Amino acid sequence: MMIALPNLDGSFNCTLFFPYEGAKSFAALQTPAQVRTFFAEHFADALPLMPDLETEFFANPTSSLVTVRCFPWSYNDDVLLLGDASHAIVPFYGQGMNSGFEDCAVLAELLEEHGADWPHIMRRFEAMRKPNTDAMADLAVYNFYEMRDRVADPRFLLQKKIEGRLAAQFPAQWQPLYSQVTFSHLPYAEALANGQAQEQVMQRLMPHIQSEADYERPEVQALVAAEMALRS
Ligand SMILES: Cc1cc2nc3c(=O)[nH]c(=O)nc-3n(C[C@H](O)[C@H](O)[C@H](O)COP(=O)(O)OP(=O)(O)OC[C@H]3O[C@@H](n4cnc5c(N)ncnc54)[C@H](O)[C@@H]3O)c2cc1C
Repeated sequence: MMIALPNLDGSFNCTLFFPYEGAKSFAALQTPAQVRTFFAEHFADALPLMPDLETEFFANPTSSLVTVRCFPWSYNDDVLLLGDASHAIVPFYGQGMNSGFEDCAVLAELLEEHGADWPHIMRRFEAMRKPNTDAMADLAVYNFYEMRDRVADPRFLLQKKIEGRLAAQFPAQWQPLYSQVTFSHLPYAEALANGQAQEQVMQRLMPHIQSEADYERPEVQALVAAEMALRS
């Protein structure tokens, strides 16, 4: 998968997520000609926008992505890990730094509550944060597969539109998973559980929906009403 993130000057920074080894991998792209052929085959629409492709491809670094799931995060009541040191994640949800900031917010609240009782604060902190950072790690991997495999699928795009309609019609009961993770203070584990429950609802609704207009059909609205009654 290649992503392109916009810069303020109107240019884009591209990142290619790719195996190190194998038939299609960084190891297989050793010459400028191999790079051009590969991009022409897999990213033909981007190629004309990258006049310096070969130079930039070889000039920029290649590095690994990791998920850290270590535990405990404290040692001898003296040391406490926060941020990536305790829960680094793959960058596909854009939440790594944010979950580090959440660590700071939770730690600050615990300090307010318990004063300088560090041993107790450390226990509470790691117990509170671990389920949420594990959930975020799963969400980040999930979003990689979603971005790589599904965003060009018309049925997936239709499902997203229908979820938008549900959120507009039932704002108290339905918030898209991405919004729960990105635009709310809901703990990540709760967002993941809600998202999985909402996905099951969508799996039941989508067989009855072939276009966005179908959402208005009385039989679809009846199904939606029944699902929402179950959720309230
Ligand atoms: C490609 C990519 C895209 C990302 N995009 C996003 C995004 O859109 N949104 C988001 O929220 N997050 C994003 N992140 C994640 C974010 O960058 C990290 O979660 C964040 O930087 C972690 O901050 P940190 O302070 O915990 O760790 P770090 O930023 O890793 O800081 C640790 C620091 O400790 C220093 N250090 C290490 N060992 C020692 C030592 N022995 N002595 C002294 N210093 C030491 C390191 O040099 C480093 O400066 C992205 C990450 C990547 C890789």
